[in-house]
Amino acid sequence: MKYIFDLIVIGGGHAGVEAALVAKRMGLEVALITLDKTKIGRMSCNPAIGGIGKSHLTKEIDALGGYMAEATDISGIQFKTLNKKKGPAVQATRAQTDKNLYEKAIQEKLKKEKIHIYDDEIKDFHTEKNIVEKAVSEKNEYKAKAFVLTTGTFLNGSILIGHTKQEGGRIDEKKSTGLEKFFKKNKLQLGRLKTGTPPRLSSKTINYSLLETQPGEEKEIYMSFLGAKNKHPKQTNCHITQTNEHTHKIIQENIKKSAMYSGLISGVGPRYCPSIEDKIVRFAEKKHHQIFVEPEGLDSDWVYPNGISTSLPKEVQEEYIHSIKGFEDAKILQFGYAVEYDYIDPRNLQKTLATKKNPNLFLAGQINGTTGYEEA
Ligand SMILES: Cc1cc2nc3c(=O)[nH]c(=O)nc-3n(C[C@H](O)[C@H](O)[C@H](O)COP(=O)(O)OP(=O)(O)OC[C@H]3O[C@@H](n4cnc5c(N)ncnc54)[C@H](O)[C@@H]3O)c2cc1C
Repeated sequence: MKYIFDLIVIGGGHAGVEAALVAKRMGLEVALITLDKTKIGRMSCNPAIGGIGKSHLTKEIDALGGYMAEATDISGIQFKTLNKKKGPAVQATRAQTDKNLYEKAIQEKLKKEKIHIYDDEIKDFHTEKNIVEKAVSEKNEYKAKAFVLTTGTFLNGSILIGHTKQEGGRIDEKKSTGLEKFFKKNKLQLGRLKTGTPPRLSSKTINYSLLETQPGEEKEIYMSFLGAKNKHPKQTNCHITQTNEHTHKIIQENIKKSAMYSGLISGVGPRYCPSIEDKIVRFAEKKHHQIFVEPEGLDSDWVYPNGISTSLPKEVQEEYIHSIKGFEDAKILQFGYAVEYDYIDPRNLQKTLATKKNPNLFLAGQINGTTGYEEA
């Protein structure tokens, strides 16, 4: 099949969604091609938006007409102003969102804006005198005046837990391949980066009576400048616990089994986002590390223990989780893992994020070596 558009966005993550919406607002006919349209707008890691160093990005996106802040207001289940005791210049809004409600808000917006959406995997671009004419998948060709490529953590992605390595762009999602041939032909330098995520726990098995409660802001606050235009769902609490010396001993004794420390991973982290293994090695003098116990949704028992991302083997994850106050009987619903993926060295790009060689091919999001939903 052949399709024709003004702009084609490849990838339905945070970068792809905003790129598609901004082009639509400019009156263009836009298509979004992604590996699985049911997962558009998915939060790969913590379902939270904003915070220090991040909320200003969300607010800038909002001021420019983007949708991230509004989607956060529609799906946010806890809002807080951070650094409240300090001056306004260093304050930040942080929202814990309901993961499913966030995806739903994004997918409904794309539908409302009549973005054409296709489930497909782009494997190559055809060029004519360095102008990209078509994005090509196994069965289809998509023609457009310009293209935005946002492959996130999926390009030749590997998922690592302890000494096991499997292909994938994110847990339970396949990787994407093929584009590296185009990059090689067009002399775009590739590199490898890594990131990680903690195990998810069942709230039904956490002893909340042992944890400190962290309520949200009493006053209703919003991420978007449009304020109460978007109503928040029901608000909820987060909690706090800590690692202890026993947790640290378990991790230290098993450090060589971590994918990050066994030499299995060649990529470096795109920014300072340390795993619990890293924290224990680098800050050996610390006896505790704080863990924020954050719900992933209102109708879900999935809990995100923020601060203990790991790529240790499953049995070690079980052992160290159970050593933490309140998690003694916690059931792990999904093990923590590291993901390693290809990115393009952003020195191959112009300031507009178009590649230096192909002026109508733009790269956005984690493919450029950034990390985080807001940065994407
Ligand atoms: C395990 C893990 C842990 C993370 N930890 C953190 C963290 O602690 N803090 C933080 O801020 N951020 C973290 N992130 C990063 C955050 O998820 C990303 O920064 C953000 O999602 C990047 O957005 P994106 O739009 O660039 O890509 P993604 O959200 O990854 O979306 C990429 C999209 O491209 C599609 N795609 C890929 N290749 C193709 C192709 N060839 N054809 C068609 N579609 C394609 C995929 O289906 C997907 O929809 C983590 C991510 C992962 C996976």
